[in-house]
Amino acid sequence: MADREVDFLLIGGGIAAATCAQTLRAESATGSVLLVARELDPPYHRPPITKGYLGGTETKDDGLIELPDDVEVLTRTSVMALDVAARTATLSNRDVITYRNALLATGAMVRRLQIDGVHLDGIHYLRAHGNADSLIEDAEEVAQIVCVGGSYIGSESAATLTTLGKSVTVVLQEEQPMERAFGLQVGGWVRGVLEAHGIEVIGDAEVERFEGDGDRVARVVLAGGRELEAELVVAGVGVTPDVMLAKKAGLEIGERGGVRADAQLRAHGADGLWVAGDIAEYDSVVHGGAVIRVEHEEHAAAQGRTVARNMLGAGADHDEVPYFFSDLADWASFEYVGPALAWDDEVIEGDMAEGEFTVWYVAGGKVVAMLSAGGHGDIDRGKRLIVEGGAPPAND
Ligand SMILES: Cc1cc2nc3c(=O)[nH]c(=O)nc-3n(C[C@H](O)[C@H](O)[C@H](O)COP(=O)(O)OP(=O)(O)OC[C@H]3O[C@@H](n4cnc5c(N)ncnc54)[C@H](O)[C@@H]3O)c2cc1C
Repeated sequence: MADREVDFLLIGGGIAAATCAQTLRAESATGSVLLVARELDPPYHRPPITKGYLGGTETKDDGLIELPDDVEVLTRTSVMALDVAARTATLSNRDVITYRNALLATGAMVRRLQIDGVHLDGIHYLRAHGNADSLIEDAEEVAQIVCVGGSYIGSESAATLTTLGKSVTVVLQEEQPMERAFGLQVGGWVRGVLEAHGIEVIGDAEVERFEGDGDRVARVVLAGGRELEAELVVAGVGVTPDVMLAKKAGLEIGERGGVRADAQLRAHGADGLWVAGDIAEYDSVVHGGAVIRVEHEEHAAAQGRTVARNMLGAGADHDEVPYFFSDLADWASFEYVGPALAWDDEVIEGDMAEGEFTVWYVAGGKVVAMLSAGGHGDIDRGKRLIVEGGAPPAND
């Protein structure tokens, strides 16, 4: 028996759900909007967690996402079960909600290392404000930190912690930081930026175990036996889409671990149910119909907007080129549109040594992604060339 009915049920308190709520009202939707969020805080931006929030230059309030007053927000509440045939959701407070339209945007969870010593004190992961709060408190008396992982989480945290006076080492499996997403040349540039500020970067390395003094981590031991002193560890080793609720509801899970959706972000086989953000594995018209899943903040927001419009009957494909940005303290920054699923050439304009350059990622003569560092280059032009399948400017 349903306790109440809503027109728009938004599951998950991240940017995808928040932006969907904003857009529904901006597009003059008059029905009831209920956002159900598991976290303690109402929706907020996660990027500051490795940047200004970790560095102490931004507060929690700075990162909050403003929602219209007539959007009902339930924090500290989970959707425990979803019946997609009956269009009902059961909440952790036992309420049963009947929905006309629902958005599933449960985001991602950090991947945890499975090696000896992971249960020692002083090993941190970063996803939510609470993670950053405990890292900040724990780091107060600490001088030597090891960041495990070469993605933007490891690299950005290393930069921010260095600005706080810590001595930081980054250990990664790849040769260069951020290489997996942006290639070896950009990876080499990121390494150069980190090293220029005193960070040691150890590539082609495998962390074998953590060792402690008592209950607390004291060393990171690499395969081959090298030992790194570590009073604190930050592990940024990827995320997995949070599809627990989706699986329980019988929704189709794709090869990339996300919830399968069509080009309009409708969940496969579930009327009135939409998917957005880190969990959405969708047919991307921008990528010639390839099935992709992207973990970028602005992409999640853009998908929240598309879903809101489609809930109101637009029937539109999600056709925004995914956008990503990264800041390494105030030392360097870049933006990226893509993602390139594969590429066979990189055309570079500008000056990498100065941190002001553009990289065109090219496959079969066509631009498939573009990276702009230090404000060099025109991201909108990059998007246009990706959509049109144009040649890189240097080859015009
Ligand atoms: C530290 C950090 C730094 C980042 N920096 C950048 C950056 O610089 N640039 C960039 O482009 N991207 C960045 N990202 C990635 C970006 O933040 C994510 O892609 C984005 O937050 C995804 O939004 P989302 O709404 O899909 O999911 P999430 O933000 O993960 O939100 C999903 C929410 O749903 C909740 N939830 C899950 N299950 C349930 C349930 N059953 N019931 C109710 N609620 C539920 C979760 O608790 C979570 O709060 C960063 C991410 C992190 C963690």
